[in-house]
Amino acid sequence: MIKTEKLTKSFQGAEVLKGINLQVDAGEIIVLLGPSGSGKSTLLRCLNGLETLSGGSIEMNGVRLDTQMKPRERNQNVRTIRRHSGMVFQQFNLYPHKTALGNVIESLLVVKKLPRSEAVAIGKKMLERVGLEGKLDAYPSRLSGGQQQRVAIARALAMEPDVLLFDEPTSALDPELVGEVLDVMQQLAREGMTMLVVTHEMAFARHVANRVVFMDDGQIVEEAAPEVFFDHPATERARRFLNKLG
Ligand code: ADP
Ligand code: MG
Repeated sequence: MIKTEKLTKSFQGAEVLKGINLQVDAGEIIVLLGPSGSGKSTLLRCLNGLETLSGGSIEMNGVRLDTQMKPRERNQNVRTIRRHSGMVFQQFNLYPHKTALGNVIESLLVVKKLPRSEAVAIGKKMLERVGLEGKLDAYPSRLSGGQQQRVAIARALAMEPDVLLFDEPTSALDPELVGEVLDVMQQLAREGMTMLVVTHEMAFARHVANRVVFMDDGQIVEEAAPEVFFDHPATERARRFLNKLG
């Protein structure tokens, strides 16, 4: 579903991704771990076409991005990749002046140009999927953080993505609201969604991930099944990271 080869990304000459080779199969749940500044968000943003690559390539479901291709083809492929991947951010990024349903159907109307009735039917179904069928008309300010994040997940799901990218989806939530978001993510995992998740929720990583990818300093340092990674990390850097978590 996703394959990156020697993916690099620099900001003003500073290389923050230093040759990432990552493969994600359909239906896999990958948890991406690593210290702050190791490049996790940048990697997700590259995968979603929010950052241009400095080198190497990305392929998502057969659609390619590299630095050699003509701008026209690249722009077209970036659009395709954005349409086929959904991103969920730490700060939910909902439109404050739109209801829950309004947020979920916005891209269906604007990007997919569906008729309103069709978009509303999909939007209702997606909000039901995240347990918010009772909140269709609620504005974000009237929703808890956990509910807002579930609206954001419903919004991503509405576009029928091939893959969902989560960047610390529970880090901005009060502790008592984390569980309801993780429950929705776990349900999506069970349904076979392909997911790449940056999170500090180690219990989620251990129990839901098929594979843990550990990054440090712009590189993938270690990749393993969660029980192997947590109980027998192979590298000193991973051991240090895990020890700090306590
Ligand atoms: P993580 O998500 O693992 O904490 P990031 O991907 O956010 O790491 O950042 C990796 C490195 O890239 C950091 O050193 C950060 O300062 C730098 N960085 C990220 N985005 C930008 C940007 N837009 N401009 C300059 N530097 C950036
Ligand atoms: Mg980050």
